[in-house]
Amino acid sequence: MKNRYFQKEIETESREKLEENQLKDLQNTIDRALTTGFYRKKLNDAGITSGKDLKKLSDISGVPITQKDELRSLYPEGLKAVAPEEIIRLHTSSGTTGIPTVIYHNRNDIQSWAELMARSMVAAGAGPEDVFQNMTGYGLFTGGLGMHYGAEFLGMTVIPTGSGNSSRQLRLMNDFRTTIVHATPSYLLHLYDQLEESEYELDDLALKKAFLGAEPYSESTRKKLEALWGIDVYNSYGLSEMNGPGVSFECEYKNGMHTWEDAFLLETLDPENHQPVPEGESGELVFTTLKREATPLLRYRTRDISRIIPGVCECGRVHRRIDRISGRTDDMLIINGVNVFPSQIEAVLMKIPEVGTNYQIHLAKDGALDRITVKVEIYSKLFTGDLGQLEEIRSRIRSRLHASIIIHPRVELHEPGSLPVAQGKAVRVVDERGGDS
Ligand code: ADP
Ligand code: ZN
Repeated sequence: MKNRYFQKEIETESREKLEENQLKDLQNTIDRALTTGFYRKKLNDAGITSGKDLKKLSDISGVPITQKDELRSLYPEGLKAVAPEEIIRLHTSSGTTGIPTVIYHNRNDIQSWAELMARSMVAAGAGPEDVFQNMTGYGLFTGGLGMHYGAEFLGMTVIPTGSGNSSRQLRLMNDFRTTIVHATPSYLLHLYDQLEESEYELDDLALKKAFLGAEPYSESTRKKLEALWGIDVYNSYGLSEMNGPGVSFECEYKNGMHTWEDAFLLETLDPENHQPVPEGESGELVFTTLKREATPLLRYRTRDISRIIPGVCECGRVHRRIDRISGRTDDMLIINGVNVFPSQIEAVLMKIPEVGTNYQIHLAKDGALDRITVKVEIYSKLFTGDLGQLEEIRSRIRSRLHASIIIHPRVELHEPGSLPVAQGKAVRVVDERGGDS
């Protein structure tokens, strides 16, 4: 079964051929980008007026970096390098609040995304004989539709359950002999607890594999899930600015995620000075789209830290592998797969008049899932001792936070001066989830 390919030629062509095509596609991408006002200014300022100004791949170093905030500032118009009537879909980042980034797709973009997904899943051993249950949210979240289109394109039988509703997930897994699931690692851990309490037995199920991503997890979490469920777990990496899933995916050797370099130009840069780090060393992942027509992105900073694994994989794919994501260069938290910035929580709290100046965001595990508790100090003059009033404040904070960050935090009210005050830089986030998932 190993060494099955979906697009053998692209996956196993020589490095020289791959790089030759990358240069051509990079030049085309620059030309497409130049049709947008945003990139025309940026590129012209850097002395680039045509794709042909880049003579070799390493000339990418002269192309300016693109930051998430710049894309946010373009919302909702975003970047359109094709005529509006060509666009058939948009996604926004799971960026929980305020201003997300928007990515547009034309028909070719949707098709090539489906191909990248199908290619990824075949690399992890999937085939048309599989029954695929997609347990992540459909909608703007790219994990749902992204995986769905790829799985259909590959020819699997797709069960589009979306996220949540564990008893229904288990029933469908049982009734339709699901062989592969796509989920977040924390959800699959949670589902195991639900299985133990359900009417189903592990032996009743036909599950063989899980594709897990959207949040960081460790090798020991993989091993634990594999042992609990008796399956193989494959790591899947992506981000909405690079379509979503289908950027990097593990093959059956499970030793790093092949990054599809025909579609994404991969760089690992020093986050401080944006210079390339030597291959094999940790740096920030920076991607340039090579195929996307509607919204080209040049040298997009992911904020994710990883490293390129040197050497060629046993599977024969030429596309280089990246290691697990080991951290981020910003303070973004990933809570049950949802991205949350502490600054979003602060912005909500500070608009509520009863809230004092000190607050703390507390993260812990509740079974397999993440639990977020926001601890808030309330002004003493508002502390009338009226429980009804306190409850009203608490639920108002909770619903405002939910509107902003999508997840429902627990909210605890504290008396002024009762939360710890840091000596130096305030410690706003206490993360007790452990490095293990
Ligand atoms: P998604 O909708 O897939 O969460 P976002 O753009 O909202 O896409 O979030 C992408 C971020 O999620 C990445 O930049 C990375 O920090 C995190 N992420 C995605 N997949 C993985 C993975 N396999 N391991 C670790 N982190 C991941
Ligand atoms: Zn491989």
